[in-house]
Amino acid sequence: MRKTLYLKFVLAYFIFGVFGFVVITTFVPSMIRDRLVREKAESLYSEATLIANTYAGGLYTSETTLDTVKLQLDALSIYMNSVIRIINPSGRVVLDSSTTLNPDEVTMIDSFDPTITSGSYYVIDHFFGSFDQDVISVIAPIVNGYMVRGYVTIHYQMDSLEKSANSLLSISYITLIILLMLSLIILIFFTEIVYVPLRRITYATEQYASGNMHYELQVDSDDEIGYLAACLNFMASEIARSEDDQKKFIANVSHDFRSPLTSIRGYLEAMQDGTIPPEMFQKYLGIVLNETERLTKLTNSLLTLNNLNTRGMILNLSDFDINEVIRTTAASFEGTCRGKYISIELFLTGDVLFVNADLDKIQQVLYNLIDNAIKFSHNYSSIRLETSEKKNKVFVSVKDTGIGIPKDDLKLIWDRFYKSDSSRGKDKKGTGLGLSIVKEIINAHGEHINVISTEGVGSEFIFSLQKSEMNDLIED
Ligand code: ADP
Repeated sequence: MRKTLYLKFVLAYFIFGVFGFVVITTFVPSMIRDRLVREKAESLYSEATLIANTYAGGLYTSETTLDTVKLQLDALSIYMNSVIRIINPSGRVVLDSSTTLNPDEVTMIDSFDPTITSGSYYVIDHFFGSFDQDVISVIAPIVNGYMVRGYVTIHYQMDSLEKSANSLLSISYITLIILLMLSLIILIFFTEIVYVPLRRITYATEQYASGNMHYELQVDSDDEIGYLAACLNFMASEIARSEDDQKKFIANVSHDFRSPLTSIRGYLEAMQDGTIPPEMFQKYLGIVLNETERLTKLTNSLLTLNNLNTRGMILNLSDFDINEVIRTTAASFEGTCRGKYISIELFLTGDVLFVNADLDKIQQVLYNLIDNAIKFSHNYSSIRLETSEKKNKVFVSVKDTGIGIPKDDLKLIWDRFYKSDSSRGKDKKGTGLGLSIVKEIINAHGEHINVISTEGVGSEFIFSLQKSEMNDLIED
C-alpha cells in the first residue's frame, strides 16, 4: 500500500502534465489558428466589400481617377498590413497597393477565377501563383449597373497571422507551466498531509501487529488522519493495558491457588510422615477442608467472572420485587449473623418495589455485598439494607458499621483479586473477586454502583436499578 499510493499520485501528476502538454501542443494551436484566420478573413471581407462599394465602384463610373483610388488603397493597405488589389474579370490587375502605378505595364493573373472562394469567403494559398507564400485572400465583386465590373481582393500574409498565433500559444504554455507548478504544490501538500502521516500509521500498525503495543504513534494533526492516529494509539494502549491486566490476573490466580495448595500439601505430608500424630488428625483435616473450601470458592468466582465476560453481558431481564429478593437473601445469612451477633435491619420502600433486571445476577450482587458487610463488621453490630426510589430508578443500599475501607483503597476494591491489607485479618477466605463480579453485573445492566466508606466507621454500597413499569400498574 505504502509505495503504490504515492506512486499513483506521482503518476497521476505526470499523466496530468503530459496530457496537458499534448492538448496544448496539438489541439490548441490549430484552434487558435482557425479562430484567428476566421476573424481575419471576416474583417478583410467586410473591408473588401466596403472598398468595392465605395472607392473602387467610383473607378468604374469614372467618378474618381485611378491615382486617387491608388492613394486611398495604399493608405488602407498600410493600415491593414495587407495587399489590396482591384482585378478585372479577365484577370488583369488594374491596381495593386504593393506596386507603383504604371499604365504601360499590364499585369495579368493567369487563370484568375473569382469563384475560388465559393463555399467560403476566403481562401488560403498563393492566389493563382501571384504570391510566393501563403496568403489569406478575400474577393468582393464591384457591381455596377447589375454587372460585375471587377473585383477587390485583399491578401494578408499567413506569416503575420502565424506570429500572432504563436504569441497566443506561448500564453497557453505559460498557463500550463503555472498549472503544473500549482499541482506540484498540491502534490507536496498531499505528501505532507496525507502520505507521511499514512506511512507513520502503517509503520505503527506493523509495530502493533508484531506485538509492540507500547509503540507511540506521533501524528499531530486535527483532521481525520489525526483522529485515526489517536484512535489507533488509544486502541494500542487499551490492548497493552488488557495484556498487562491479563498477566496480573494470571499471576494473582496462580498465587491464590498456590497458597492453599501449599498448606494442604504441607499438612498432608506432615500427617503422612508422622510429624502430626494421628490424634491430631481431626484438627488438621479441618484446616485442610477449610483450604479446599477456599479453593472451591475461588474456582466458582472465576467461573462466574468468566461467564459474565464471555457471554458478553447477555441478561435475562424480568420484572421482580427487589424488596422480596432482599428479604430472602438476608434470611440466608441468618446463621452467619447469629454467630457474630449481627442484626440485619431492613428499610424497604413500599410493600413491593418492582425492578426490571436479571434476578439471578442481582441476587448474586446482594449476596456478595451482604457477605462482605458481615465479614467486615464487628460482633454485636447491625447491617442496614435499604431501598429507595427516585424518578425511574430504584436505589439499593447495603450499609455496615464495620472496619471501613482506607481512602487510598477505595478505587482499588473493584479490581480483581484486590483485598485490602486491613481486611486480611478478618477475611482469610476472601478471593478479592466478589466486588469485581458485582461491578460487572451492575455495569452490564447499564447501572452504577458507588461506595461511601470511612476507615473505622463503616461502609455503604449503593447501586441503582431500572424501576419496572409494573409499579404504576399496581398503584392504578
Ligand atoms: P473478597 O471476596 O475478598 O471480599 P471483594 O472483591 O468482595 O473480595 O472485596 C475486595 C476488598 O474490598 C476486600 O478485601 C475488602 O478489603 C474491601 N471491602 C469490601 N467490602 C467491604 C466492606 N463492607 N467493609 C470493608 N471493606 C470492604
